[in-house]
Amino acid sequence: MNYSIALVPGDGIGPEVIAPATEILDAVGDTYDHVFHYVELEAGGKAIDSTGEPLPQETLEAAKQCDALLLGALGGPQWETLPGHLRPERALLGLRSGLGVFANLRPAALLPQLKDACPLKDAVLAASHPEGKPTFDLLIVRELTGGLYFGTRGRSTDGKAAFDTETYSWAEIERVLRAGYAAAAVRRKKLCVVDKANVLESSRLWREVAAVVSKDYPDIETRYLYVDNCAMQLIRAPGQFDVIVTSNLFGDILSDEASVLTGSIGMLPSASLGSPDDPLAKKGHPMGMYEPIHGSAPDIAGKDIANPLAAILSTAMMLRYSFGLEQEARRIESAVNAVLDSGLRTQDIARRNSTPGTEKILGTKDMGEAVLKQIIGDMNNA
Ligand code: NAD
Repeated sequence: MNYSIALVPGDGIGPEVIAPATEILDAVGDTYDHVFHYVELEAGGKAIDSTGEPLPQETLEAAKQCDALLLGALGGPQWETLPGHLRPERALLGLRSGLGVFANLRPAALLPQLKDACPLKDAVLAASHPEGKPTFDLLIVRELTGGLYFGTRGRSTDGKAAFDTETYSWAEIERVLRAGYAAAAVRRKKLCVVDKANVLESSRLWREVAAVVSKDYPDIETRYLYVDNCAMQLIRAPGQFDVIVTSNLFGDILSDEASVLTGSIGMLPSASLGSPDDPLAKKGHPMGMYEPIHGSAPDIAGKDIANPLAAILSTAMMLRYSFGLEQEARRIESAVNAVLDSGLRTQDIARRNSTPGTEKILGTKDMGEAVLKQIIGDMNNA
C-alpha cells in the first residue's frame, strides 16, 4: 500500500530527530511492502525565513492532501521577538486547526529500563499503583483546537493590559471526551476530567458535558479533579491515573510534567487525531498529526545529543492510528524497547551513577541507527 506523509522537520532539533524516524519508517515499509511517500513542507521558523510567514497557505493545503503529517518541532530564540501572529508556534496552531486534529493523545508510561531516570522513589510509585508496582502508565488526552490558545486575545490601546480568552462549546468538549472514553475503553477503564471548575465558567461547562457523556460509558469510571490538585497528584501518586482528559492549556502543562516522570521529554510521542467523519479523513482513518511532545530544544540543537525516540515512537503512533498498521507499529515499539534493554541511552535518559559497562551513551544519529539495526535484525530473524 502507498501512503503519503506530509513531513515538517521544522527548527532546532526537529530535523535531527525526524531524519532517523523516516529511515526507520522506510525500513518497516520495505519489509511489509508499504511505500511511504514524503512531501517535505516548510513551517515555523524556516518558513518565516523563506516566506515571511510561519504557515504558508501551500503548506497547509499540501498537508491536507496527505494521509498524515509528521512534525519535528517549531520555534527558536531567533524568532521570539516577532509579533505573536508571526511567531513559529502560530504554524503549530494553524496546522492543528486546519487539519481539524482536536484530540491530542499523549501517552506517558514508565518503561522498566528507565526506572532509574524517574525522579520518584519506588515507594512513592508503588503506593498509588493498583497492584503495588513501582510504575505508572497513563494517557493524557489534550483538547487541541480550542480554549485559551484559540480564543480572542489582545492588548489595551496603551499596551499596558492584555487578555486571552478561554472559550469552549459543548460540541468541542463532547468530541474530545468521547475520544478519551474510546481510549479508556481499551485501557483500564478509568477516566479523569481535569479542569478548574471551582473558578472557571468554561470548566463548569466541561463538567456538565462530562456528566451527560459519561452515561454512555457505564463501564468506565469517571472522576473529576481540579488542575492544581492533578498537578500535585501526578508527582504524588501517578499510578492512580489511566486516562486524563483536559483542555488545551492544562494538557500542555500536565503532559510536560508527566514527561519528567518517564525520565525525559525526549521519550514522549504524541498523536493528534481528527474525526473519522471529517472530509480530511483518509483510507477510513481520521486525519492525524504526529509529533514528539518536546520543542525545538535550541540549547542542544546541532550537537547530535537530542533523544530521537519520541519522534521514532510518534511514527509508530502514525502507523497505528492513521494507517491501521498495528503489527508494523509494534515492530517499532519493540525495537525501541530492545535497544533500551541492551543499555543504549541518549544523554537525557542515562543514569548518573550507572554501573560501568551497563549503559552506553549515544548521540542522536547513533541512537537512530541502533533502532534501525534492531528493526532490520528483527525482520531478518522473523
Ligand atoms: P523544549 O521542549 O524545546 O526543551 C525543554 C528542555 O528539554 C530543554 O532543556 C531541552 O534541551 C530538553 N529537550 C527537549 N527535547 C529533547 C530531546 N529530544 N532530547 C533531549 N532533551 C530534550 O521546550 P522549550 O525550551 O520551552 O522551547 C524551545 C522552543 O521550542 C521554543 O521556541 C518553543 O516555543 C518551541 N516549542 C515547540 C513545540 C513544538 O514544536 N511542538 C513544543 C514546545 C515548545
